Amino acid sequence: MNSKMKAAQISKPGGDWELIERDIPDPGAGQVRVKVEACGICHSDALVKEGLWPGLQYPRVPGHEIAGRIDALGDNVTAWTIGQRVGVGWRLAWRTLFCVRAMPAR
Ligand SMILES: [Zn+2]
Repeated sequence: MNSKMKAAQISKPGGDWELIERDIPDPGAGQVRVKVEACGICHSDALVKEGLWPGLQYPRVPGHEIAGRIDALGDNVTAWTIGQRVGVGWRLAWRTLFCVRAMPAR
């Protein structure tokens, strides 16, 4: 498996999008890893890009509403399976992209 993933990053408030590579993290206990197939960009992401959200540190990778497939399970995960389609909405996304409470996609 590829050990790197692509991400669109903002390096500074008001900066341009930059395509970067990051190491693919392993999910921790109670977490799943989702291979993102689609990512929404909402108004709060626009605020992040333009530096209008107070207290943020940069660089940042906006885009917290995603759909994809689970491609790795952390320890103690029993309710999810590899290959399962999931979506992550805004309520969970600020907590973590890899939250096990992601909703199954239909
Ligand atoms: Zn949003």
